[in-house]
Amino acid sequence: MTWKPTDCHAHSTHSDGALSVAEVAARGQSLGIQVSVTDHISLDAPTTLDSVAAVNAYLDDLERYEVLRGGEFCWHDSLWRALPADVVRRFTHRIGSLHSIRLDDGSYCRAFTQLLPDSLTPEIYIEAHVTSLESLANEMPVDIFAHPTLVPPPLRLLDPHELWSEAHEARVVTALRSAGIAFEVSSRYPPHERLVQRAAHAGVRLSLGSDGHSRTQVGNVAPALALTRAAGVSDDALYDPTRHGSRTGAFDA
Ligand SMILES: [Zn+2]
Ligand SMILES: [Zn+2]
Repeated sequence: MTWKPTDCHAHSTHSDGALSVAEVAARGQSLGIQVSVTDHISLDAPTTLDSVAAVNAYLDDLERYEVLRGGEFCWHDSLWRALPADVVRRFTHRIGSLHSIRLDDGSYCRAFTQLLPDSLTPEIYIEAHVTSLESLANEMPVDIFAHPTLVPPPLRLLDPHELWSEAHEARVVTALRSAGIAFEVSSRYPPHERLVQRAAHAGVRLSLGSDGHSRTQVGNVAPALALTRAAGVSDDALYDPTRHGSRTGAFDA
């Protein structure tokens, strides 16, 4: 069978996406891509999936289509801790996200905030981001860490090579490798090449994610694929839960 790309991360109308599940599936078909629906499952995100019952109904819906059955869970939220194992097994794969990071004083800072307090310098932010990721990797039984370099808009203006120290990058790679969590190469929030290469060289599995919310975005893995190829990663080593398995238990005998 010839390899086709797997978009491990896309949204539907179950959360904040514009396409129905049927439309996501059709988009994958027309692009020749294995697509996933990974809607937000959280009490603190724009989504209808805010209870165990809603998650079961969502999975019932996904099972009717040719899509991988995923979910994007906020680390800072409690809902992922409440899902029973028999529900977890229904997912082909799960994604963990830092939509909020924990600061030193125990408070949380949203990764989408337009205004950072003066006390939160870029160095302090990245240190808290990496420390939060280390907790996520220890606590969350997910398969993929979404958009590893997602930071608030003011910090996106900085050169990532200055925002990120190599020591911080090394900590991200070590945390993901020890936990067996894949590094998402996101088309929506593309990581800088140095970090992708560091992850690849350390043997961390990479995954492609459009993080698509619209028709043109869903299945658009080309920018991510260009980065994984530039890092020397072979296409068939890119994460595909149907081939590489999953921590959800979906593929256990
Ligand atoms: Zn996200
Ligand atoms: Zn997403």
